[in-house]
This record gives sequence, structure tokens and C-alpha cells, in this order.
Amino acid sequence: MIHHNHTTLTSSTVEQLSLDLFPPCSFDELCAQCTGITLTVHINPRLKSNWYVKIHRGQPVRELHIPQILDDAPEAVKRAAVNWATLPSPRLPHLKKEVKCRQRHYEAQIRSFLNDRGAATRRRPPVQKWPTIGRHYDLREVFDSLNDTFFRGTLRSFLRWGSPTSRTSFQATRHDSDGQPYHCITIAGMYNHPEVPRFAIDTIMFHEMLHIHIPPRRENGRNVYHGPDFKKMEQSFPHYAQWHRWEKTVLPYLSRRYPRKQPLRQFGKAAARLLFH
Ligand SMILES: [Zn+2]
Repeated sequence: MIHHNHTTLTSSTVEQLSLDLFPPCSFDELCAQCTGITLTVHINPRLKSNWYVKIHRGQPVRELHIPQILDDAPEAVKRAAVNWATLPSPRLPHLKKEVKCRQRHYEAQIRSFLNDRGAATRRRPPVQKWPTIGRHYDLREVFDSLNDTFFRGTLRSFLRWGSPTSRTSFQATRHDSDGQPYHCITIAGMYNHPEVPRFAIDTIMFHEMLHIHIPPRRENGRNVYHGPDFKKMEQSFPHYAQWHRWEKTVLPYLSRRYPRKQPLRQFGKAAARLLFH
């Protein structure tokens, strides 16, 4: 019995010693173990809580750029970073899911280490960089005026025009890095025709804004987007009936005459004003 205890003690001492004698693998050593890809790791002093990989197309060569703090990480975290940087690019659809899943797993490991070390800084919320001005209407102005009139200015959303020939408008809710929801309303490109009347752009925008005001809910295993409360509010909009008729009779006609080329995106806001105002 005594002998057994003694043995346990000795082996645990040896274990501790061996940890000190063999420090965690360096990035160089881990990279040397990679097969098929030549990976080099660069410490980038400008990086604080992010990392990225440079892929050289057509060559099995990659560069992993990391913040200084990751160089002191335990071996498991370093291994996760190396595995992350050497993930295969999934060409076959059945691989896609698996690679994505592994990618998320590695990212969570790295992120959790960085969070523990206080390296994760609050990322700035997404900023709208694209113009909202169209041929006739500025989506921002349309949104703001409806927001003031019908929602006491409480709604917030990114706004954008859909591709020039798109026929569907939609609202999407996404989450930023802090888990805060943000909305984006896309108005169908066909509403960017110069002959679209104000009541039409107002009604379609109002519809998408209602999706923020009345979020979808789960009912009998299905998402309900246009429930009775939604429809009631939508139909109470002053121009709803007029828009409904217009959408059925005039809009298809306008979309047939839609000019295909729309240089808005390339030229940005200032040029858009010059071109269309
Ligand atoms: Zn809808």
C-alpha cells in the first residue's frame, strides 16, 4: 500500500518535471509537421485580436499572420491556429459543411484564448459604406421620413438597392460580433426606375420596416412573417390600395423598360448625384 502511494507520487513529480523540460511546441515546429502545405507564421504587431491567412493561389504555400499574444499561447491553441490556416479550400459541396464546422471549432479555440487574455477589443459596429441614393429617391430619406411618421423614429436599419433587375425587396436581421442584432433592408432594383411614384417607394419601404417592427415568430414549427397583425398594419398604410393596383399593372411594364446598366455602385455617392440629379 505504502509502496503504491510512493509510486504515484514519483510519477506525478516526473510528469511535472517533464512539462518544464519540454516547453510547448513553437509555431516553427508545428509548421514543420504540416504535410502538403508550406506554412510560415508571422507575428504582426498591428494585430491585436485578429489573425488572417494569406493564400498563394496555385501554390501550396500559406502565411499565417498573428498577434504577438498568440505566440505565448498553449500548444493546443497554436495547433488550432495552424490547423485553421491549413484547412483545405472546399471545392466539393459535401466537404463544405465539414470544413466550415472545423473552421468554427478552431476559431472558437483561438478566440477563447484571446478573450481570456483580454485581447479581444470591442469591434466597431458595421458601418454603411454604399450609397443609398438612387435614380429618383434616396432610400435613407424615404426610411427616415416613414420612421418619424409611423414608428416615432425608433427603427434602425442599413439600406441598399438590390441589383438593377431584381424584383424582390427584403429585410434581413444579422448579428454583429457582440451579438447585437442589426437590420438591413434591400429594395428591389426595379424600384430604382425614375418613373416610380413616391407612394410606391413609400409603401414597399413601409412593408420592409414592418418586418423590423413585427419580427417573425415561430408558430406550429413554421416562421410566420406576414401574420394577421402584420397584414392589418400594412393595409392601414394610406397608399396601400393604390400601391397594390400600381404594382400589378404599372410595375411590370416599367421593369420591361428598365435600363440595364446602372453605374451607381461603381461611382459612389458624389458621382451618383451628378449622374442622376
Ligand atoms: Zn414581407
